[in-house]
Amino acid sequence: MVKIPGLIQVFNVQCVMCGRASGQLINGAFVPNQRVKRPVAAKNGSRCGECGGNLYLEPDESVTPFMATQIAAQRTAAQQQAKASLQSSALRAA
Ligand SMILES: [Zn+2]
Repeated sequence: MVKIPGLIQVFNVQCVMCGRASGQLINGAFVPNQRVKRPVAAKNGSRCGECGGNLYLEPDESVTPFMATQIAAQRTAAQQQAKASLQSSALRAA
């Protein structure tokens, strides 16, 4: 892996049980997903705030510091759009 100055590593914090993304680790800082309950602290690390499942880190693409500040808002908007399109396709199928 080539280390590029100005890029920072991003991980998605995913739940193994329900698949929800509790948030992201951006440059070592946890950025919670506003649409999912915050992880709860347990003896062996954090647990999913929704179902109590184990969390794992999934490497995401590296981004610039500017992009990092935009990611949380973009992810929320994308999830809302995905949810809206799911609902409209469900309506069409009905
Ligand atoms: Zn979960």
